[in-house]
Amino acid sequence: MRESILTIPVNEVFEPREGCPICRMRDTVEQHICEYIMGAAMMEPDVRMETNKLGFCHTHYGQLLKQNNRLSLALMLNSHLEEVRANIIDKKGLFDSKDSKAKKAAEVDGTCFVCSKVQWGIDHMLDTVFTMFQKDGKFKNMFKSQEYFCLPHYHYLIEQSAVKMPKGERSDFLAALDEIMRGYAKQLNSDVNEFCNSFDYRNAGKLHSAEMEHVRSSVDRAIMFLTSRGREEE
Ligand SMILES: [Zn+2]
Ligand SMILES: [Zn+2]
Repeated sequence: MRESILTIPVNEVFEPREGCPICRMRDTVEQHICEYIMGAAMMEPDVRMETNKLGFCHTHYGQLLKQNNRLSLALMLNSHLEEVRANIIDKKGLFDSKDSKAKKAAEVDGTCFVCSKVQWGIDHMLDTVFTMFQKDGKFKNMFKSQEYFCLPHYHYLIEQSAVKMPKGERSDFLAALDEIMRGYAKQLNSDVNEFCNSFDYRNAGKLHSAEMEHVRSSVDRAIMFLTSRGREEE
């Protein structure tokens, strides 16, 4: 599998300043991988070996279904099921107690080919993000002008920066991150609150005016902010 499928220039990810940039990165890489594994990679034995072993999570089965290529998906499911049967369900023998079956089943249950590749892509990009934040003033400003980071990616940035950034630089990074998060979460909370209040009879009709779009969209945006996934991806 070519690494170029999993990497996107960091400026391309941060330039739009709209939504969570890590989500944008993930969405693009997911799209690339889904197209790739349903197309060219179908015939690549090393990719098939990995998909047979790891399978996919619910979110990514959903995205693969959207590729409108049921035969490719069925072929992958076919060999994945064969492997699950051979390695777990049909496995006999003294050393294969029920517990080890449970362990193996849990392993397959928790793995996803797309998730593992996306994770690699994100980690690879974050190496660059942390380096550029320290060395490139222009990028630092671009980072600071992001709209927000979703809660799961905010959590991941805090965690990863602890491992990948020197202490002194990290406090600068965390301060920038927190300022973005405080501002956005406050506004979002206030928009959702206004949405609730719009159901009061005294505010009848108010929600439908053009300038209330930020309030109308607030429930969807709050779910996106808290979970990193939008409604259309269910
Ligand atoms: Zn995100
Ligand atoms: Zn997945």
